[in-house]
Amino acid sequence: MSRRFFVDSPITGETATLIGQEAQHLSKVMRAQIGDELLLFDGGGAEFTAIVQKLGRSEVELSIVERHDVDRELSFRLVIGVALPKGDRQRWLVEKLVELGVTELVPLVTARSVAQPSGNALDRLRRAVVEASKQCGRNRLMSIGEAKSLDALLSETSKDATRLIAHPPCLGENASPWPTHAHNVIVAIGPEGGFTDEEMALSVERGWGKTSLGSRILRTETAAVAIASLIAMQRDANS
Ligand code: SAM
Repeated sequence: MSRRFFVDSPITGETATLIGQEAQHLSKVMRAQIGDELLLFDGGGAEFTAIVQKLGRSEVELSIVERHDVDRELSFRLVIGVALPKGDRQRWLVEKLVELGVTELVPLVTARSVAQPSGNALDRLRRAVVEASKQCGRNRLMSIGEAKSLDALLSETSKDATRLIAHPPCLGENASPWPTHAHNVIVAIGPEGGFTDEEMALSVERGWGKTSLGSRILRTETAAVAIASLIAMQRDANS
């Protein structure tokens, strides 16, 4: 079981406090005792060895022993804009993108989108980011932005970024190459119904490159995870 716990405020002094689900996980699930040693992270990039000093039902107080600057992030910024699938597939997608090192997930609103998380659903996805980060050792949290229209994403994204839109290939069409040296990559992935012809035409007009994953049609979440893996591994191998 994970010995990493998330503190929802910057750790700056000699103590830290776990609250809410993290405190319950430590005291009820892990059955921690006073004096136990564990790792804390606050999303700022470092992790901290800490010792349990006081155990309450909904609050656990710890003393900080040592700060470790451990970088497990990708060496570049990778943003995945995706028209989210429904239900459990959303959580699966978020978990995998965290594990792969994605910097930011932007829920995309497109002509054929089926699910736009907001309120509690968005909070649950952000909680899934924390859980996945605890498990995979990331010390920075993948951010989940507010839902954005494809139009806004296409026009707001800086031209300095490598901008790709994933679309199943048409016969004879050339796909853009995978980026191997870019510092800022953004990829848009469509809903189960795909991007419309108008959306594809607009993306090309705005200078985005079309990218392909071969001749089979992948589900949205498979496409997002495949693209994140391909770019993350190729780019990291070349850095
Ligand atoms: N009938 C839809 C179409 O033709 O666009 C299928 C959409 S697919 C289920 C969902 C999204 O995953 C697509 O909009 C695209 O972004 C991505 N995708 C799936 N298979 C792909 C492939 N072979 N190449 C590139 N992108 C793909």
